[in-house]
Amino acid sequence: MATESAPMPAAALPDDAAYEALRTRFFHTRVPNIRPARIYTPRTTSDVAKILMDARRNNLKVGVRSGGHLFPCCSLIQSGVLVDTRDLNRGIEYDAQTELVSFPPGSLSKELANALSAVGRFFPFGHSPTVAAGGFLLAGGQGWFMRGWGCTSDQWVEAMEIVTAEGQIVQASRKENEDLFWAARGSGQGFFGVVTRVWARTIPMRRLWETVAVFECTHRFAQILDALLEITDRTPKDGVEVAFATFRPDRDEPGLGEEVQDTRVFIAATALAFADTFAEAAALLRPWENLPDILVQDQIMKTPVLERTWNELFEAQDKLNPAGNGERWQCDSILDRPGVPREELIEAIRPALTDLPSRRSIGCIYVGDYVPDEVGQAISLPQQYYIASMTCWTDPSWDNRMGQWMRGVYTRAAKVSCGQYIADFDGKQRMTPVLSKTALARFLEIRQKWDPDERFIGYRGFSGLDQIQPCL
Ligand SMILES: Cc1cc2nc3c(=O)[nH]c(=O)nc-3n(C[C@H](O)[C@H](O)[C@H](O)COP(=O)(O)OP(=O)(O)OC[C@H]3O[C@@H](n4cnc5c(N)ncnc54)[C@H](O)[C@@H]3O)c2cc1C
Repeated sequence: MATESAPMPAAALPDDAAYEALRTRFFHTRVPNIRPARIYTPRTTSDVAKILMDARRNNLKVGVRSGGHLFPCCSLIQSGVLVDTRDLNRGIEYDAQTELVSFPPGSLSKELANALSAVGRFFPFGHSPTVAAGGFLLAGGQGWFMRGWGCTSDQWVEAMEIVTAEGQIVQASRKENEDLFWAARGSGQGFFGVVTRVWARTIPMRRLWETVAVFECTHRFAQILDALLEITDRTPKDGVEVAFATFRPDRDEPGLGEEVQDTRVFIAATALAFADTFAEAAALLRPWENLPDILVQDQIMKTPVLERTWNELFEAQDKLNPAGNGERWQCDSILDRPGVPREELIEAIRPALTDLPSRRSIGCIYVGDYVPDEVGQAISLPQQYYIASMTCWTDPSWDNRMGQWMRGVYTRAAKVSCGQYIADFDGKQRMTPVLSKTALARFLEIRQKWDPDERFIGYRGFSGLDQIQPCL
């Protein structure tokens, strides 16, 4: 534990010049007007311990931010403390003996990709180059090639260094502080400590091979999506990732404004293989080679199997979710309820994916094919399909209109859902389960043990959700 007498790290206070830029350091600009009393950018674990002891002494609530990609910006707490981990414990280290990589929570996916590629290794980081490991792993982590091995936190994370609500520095793993380790993998913004370093398993890096096909689905969305999901069913799970994105055809045209102009809807199907050779990749991607007539008649384009780099894949992700030019983003999503007939599923999600309310909004289906075992970690809802809408606009006067659209389409989609990926939970927008009933009950007990004074309040939004759990 850090000593009480050691000096406190400096904080940015509301009147400081640096404060507003630090406060609003999020992926998008729709940042709520919530003003923490102090913003810290600690450099060491010991700094974090001092900050938490000080927060305790002054009875301040604590929010934590790593990459700032959580859409509702939950790390901001009015008159509380914001711990920004971007400068914390910098350095990604690979140990060739143990084959473990260790990294700080502020590590971005692109930084992990670069550091690991340099030593010929791989660990399933997030898809967006600027998602940070902190929030990503706490949420569970829908990392690359998830169909083969589930959420990243499930099988890949071996240990975490955590500063507890009382300012104690502890190790958490399957052997040490097992309950804390369980809760830190899947409780997302509800977690009640600061993760300061992570140790994770790696495997040898392979090459990346992609095929992309785009179809117009304006009038035959149900038939086209059904055919795409049927091909997905025949695609091997190990080493192949499959995702679909819906969009307006002119979304990438510059200077057209945010109103929808071209009302057609396209759907892109991407299959990506993790394989050493072209022949191996071609075999993995064979189901996508000869598409059925029902797809071919509305096909706009299709690439052959091409080798890709991480940089190219990250650029494509950035193109889907542009940021840095005043973009406001909102996201809502569902995880489909096991057993819902496909026809019913597609009908319920159709408006969320096709009635896109602004030119740059997108729909997304990420195929997770994952049924977690909640004995191992808090991640507990099945993730066969992650179905999301991400709306994009710039004019703040559109906020209500966009929020209403989202509420409408997700009220409908919720009928076929068992809940939501916790990273997308926004209790102000919609209440929906993020953990199974039993995992939520266990999480609440562990939280009470480690943070009895409620230094961390992110869990409050979903803590009563056992009352409305529809299916699990
Ligand atoms: C463009 C984009 C792409 C995305 N892609 C993916 C993806 O591929 N896979 C996926 O799973 N999700 C993805 N997400 C969703 C999701 O928001 C992130 O996985 C994750 O929450 C972001 O982590 P962060 O550290 O960047 O965000 P932050 O907003 O910094 O963190 C999210 C929350 O985690 C907690 N937290 C963060 N760091 C710490 C820490 N060190 N200690 C304790 N608590 C902490 C806080 O409660 C915080 O509010 C994406 C989001 C966006 C905007």
